[in-house]
Amino acid sequence: MQPALVAKYGEARLPRYTSYPTAPRFSPAIDADTYGGWLAATPPEKPASLYLHIPFCRSMCWYCGCHTTITQRDQPIFDYLDMLREEVHLVSAKTRAPLSINHVHFGGGTPTIMQPKEFLALITLLREHFEFANTAEIAVEIDPRTLEPEMATALGEAGVCRASLGVQSFDPVVQKAINRIQSEEQTMDAVTRLRKAGVDSINFDLIYGLPHQTVESCIATAEAAIRMGPERFAVFGYAHVPSFKKHQKLIDEKALADAEGRVAQAEAIAATLVAAGYRRVGLDHFARPDDGLAIAQARGQLHRNFQGYTTDACETLIGLGASAIGRTRDGYVQNEVPPGVYAQRIASGRLATVKGYRLTPEDRLRASIIERLMCDFGVDVPALAAAHGFDPQMLLRGNAKLAMLESDGILENADGVIRLREGGRFLIRAAAAAFDAYIEQSGRTHSKAA
Ligand code: SF4
Repeated sequence: MQPALVAKYGEARLPRYTSYPTAPRFSPAIDADTYGGWLAATPPEKPASLYLHIPFCRSMCWYCGCHTTITQRDQPIFDYLDMLREEVHLVSAKTRAPLSINHVHFGGGTPTIMQPKEFLALITLLREHFEFANTAEIAVEIDPRTLEPEMATALGEAGVCRASLGVQSFDPVVQKAINRIQSEEQTMDAVTRLRKAGVDSINFDLIYGLPHQTVESCIATAEAAIRMGPERFAVFGYAHVPSFKKHQKLIDEKALADAEGRVAQAEAIAATLVAAGYRRVGLDHFARPDDGLAIAQARGQLHRNFQGYTTDACETLIGLGASAIGRTRDGYVQNEVPPGVYAQRIASGRLATVKGYRLTPEDRLRASIIERLMCDFGVDVPALAAAHGFDPQMLLRGNAKLAMLESDGILENADGVIRLREGGRFLIRAAAAAFDAYIEQSGRTHSKAA
């Protein structure tokens, strides 16, 4: 990408658009009662997904942007799981009939911090309270440093088919600078255990833009990771927001690459993965050609949700646990973030909703345009506007951001049929922001565009 464009757009702080509107628009006007009504109105026969958040880790990685708590003790985890089970009862009691479940995702934190028997019991409880499809996909985020053989076996027994492993960088200098020491052997051992247990699909998360990272170390990490044979990669840029994540102050800002350096690192990782046969999927995912994600993209059926790119087309996502975000056809809801406050709410017999957002018809149209842009790098605005009953000129006429992206050669716009040009791929978030009605109001809480 041209350095002038990187300089112009790369420093802008933009959402990753895992939802639209984005989380800063959520308001306390949406509370537990609102969510209870939305759950009651959710058609049980339509497929839904579950997300369960396990907000505990054994040590803090300094780049971490997740909602998590560090603990060496097991009791807080046991207590939290009591509340999580209680929330399953509360939520499922609000729906007219057990919801049909297609996808389940355990995120964190470190979900595998649970004991194997607790994990198996939790899956059993979910199966009792929801109607799991035979083909339901169960995915779990994994910290390879702490995955015990017994837990890998339990994941296989529970029917987990997808595991997402945090790798980030194999460079020892980078690992020291982010307080996450993880050898290649530890990562490979985790892969071997998971495969032996029957977990068929492995995803690696890599990060660029970490302190002391270079193009060379990014390539070396990608090459080592490829040798371990994962089906998918997700490659994220480190988001340095120490004003929101205090532990990021431990990261040496002087050792961070500038916008141009970050783009060079991202492009080097992408080129290494593509040369090894992985297909680019959306902005930051890569998958083997026969993987479901690559196939969905080729068919124009890729979707985007809070976990990133997905084949999951469900309109309803039930978020369980502290900080979990969910969605129904009416809008978004988020649970209380601090585990203690979440626990108090659940213990009092109420849903833990702390804020949310009620979608308007215009939000739905803008959300569908942004999702197609993020997934396909192009969108037919007039076609989507017609499908939603709107005049496309409402979005196109006088759209200064769109005009600027077009005149900078980042995208083509033929009467509202928009396509990113090849070199503009990293600026897809800037293109999406051209259709975001709230972007000016959402403040600087997002990461840089490049
Ligand atoms: S293991 Fe993941 S969630 Fe836990 S501190 Fe590290 S990056 Fe954050």
